[in-house]
Amino acid sequence: MNEMEEIEIVIVGGGICGLATALALHRKGIKSVVLEKSETLRATGAGITIRANGWCALHQLGVASNLRLTSLTVQGGKNISVASGKQQERPFEKGEIRCLRRSELIKGLAENLPPGTIHLGCQVLSIRLDPLSSRSIIQLQNGRTIKATVLIGCDGANSVVADFLGLKPVKFLSLSQESVMLTSTSVSYLKRTNVVAKDPELLQQMTLESIKGFPTKMLDMVKHSDRDSLSISRMKYQAPWDILLGSFRKGTVTVAGDAMHVMGPFLGQGGSVALEDAIILARCLAQKRHEIDIKTNGSQVIAYKVGEALDQYVKERRMRLVRLSTQTYLTGILIKNPPLLVRFVCNILMKVLFSDSTAHSQYDCGRL
Ligand SMILES: Cc1cc2nc3c(=O)[nH]c(=O)nc-3n(C[C@H](O)[C@H](O)[C@H](O)COP(=O)(O)OP(=O)(O)OC[C@H]3O[C@@H](n4cnc5c(N)ncnc54)[C@H](O)[C@@H]3O)c2cc1C
Repeated sequence: MNEMEEIEIVIVGGGICGLATALALHRKGIKSVVLEKSETLRATGAGITIRANGWCALHQLGVASNLRLTSLTVQGGKNISVASGKQQERPFEKGEIRCLRRSELIKGLAENLPPGTIHLGCQVLSIRLDPLSSRSIIQLQNGRTIKATVLIGCDGANSVVADFLGLKPVKFLSLSQESVMLTSTSVSYLKRTNVVAKDPELLQQMTLESIKGFPTKMLDMVKHSDRDSLSISRMKYQAPWDILLGSFRKGTVTVAGDAMHVMGPFLGQGGSVALEDAIILARCLAQKRHEIDIKTNGSQVIAYKVGEALDQYVKERRMRLVRLSTQTYLTGILIKNPPLLVRFVCNILMKVLFSDSTAHSQYDCGRL
């Protein structure tokens, strides 16, 4: 039988959120280990738009200036109906909005971590709590078993850690028609069927087929896009009421990023909000750390103090996430072209709750 390794802080998932959380902890002088199931750090998709709130978080992580060098400023967008061809300019809010390659973001976070932080090829299969020490026992596919004092699940929408916490499974958004999202660095093709096209060439053809008649600039973007970065996925989300009521902490285990709050891509906020999570989680853990003396405190005291830090993190995040997921949810319903009454109610709710529809990007996660 393999010997059990002991690690103080384990982060499951080496995506944007996992790497940002490890970096935020590192900036506070706290060591952690990131377990990533893939053999390389690979971002799904080509580009990502980071809004002002995300740049605030990247600034706190000390990587914003370098990332700006390879990014493009986004000035606005355009909605074009696939069905009717109707075009509508979509001005973006004031403040910093930039598109950058996902791979650059991942690289920018990873290269600032101390060597040995990221463990690739480490898929977490299961988690259980050791009743004696209150620590998590993590079973990996490669046979390793790890005992962790703190476990943070940043393992995306199909999170093993969220399952362990008993969070509601993600829901799938069905569109009444096919929808294509194009940005200056990414092409996302969202289809309502369950068919998942794995062949990038087929995906490119399907996209071109559905945007026939779009401006040449957009057609060219799809034609010349990097085929390796094309993927198709069903749109997932967590309902606002599941976020309002979700129990995001059990013992010394919590979640962040898509594992906590996957949202439809309509506000383009998933990545930026994951960066906010990282800052706030690291800050809460660092604030309690001076109260935890590993040598003299018993494991129950440590678990209690970590639990307090995680509760503070969940408290700070919850209403921010409920608001964002509600706005995304209502936007998603309106995009589906619902019956008149539903449209009317959603529009009223949008006006009342989100009179400034771009206020979500003015959020400041504060200092690390
Ligand atoms: C079409 C589309 C467009 C989008 N556009 C934008 C945008 O413009 N701006 C924006 O801010 N957001 C956007 N988003 C959302 C954004 O991509 C996500 O919110 C963000 O990537 C979440 O990061 P994460 O690290 O939480 O999860 P992920 O990126 O999913 O990372 C999870 C990581 O965990 C690993 N993992 C999973 N399970 C395990 C396991 N059991 N053991 C070990 N490792 C595991 C995975 O391999 C992966 O590396 C978009 C999303 C979609 C679908």
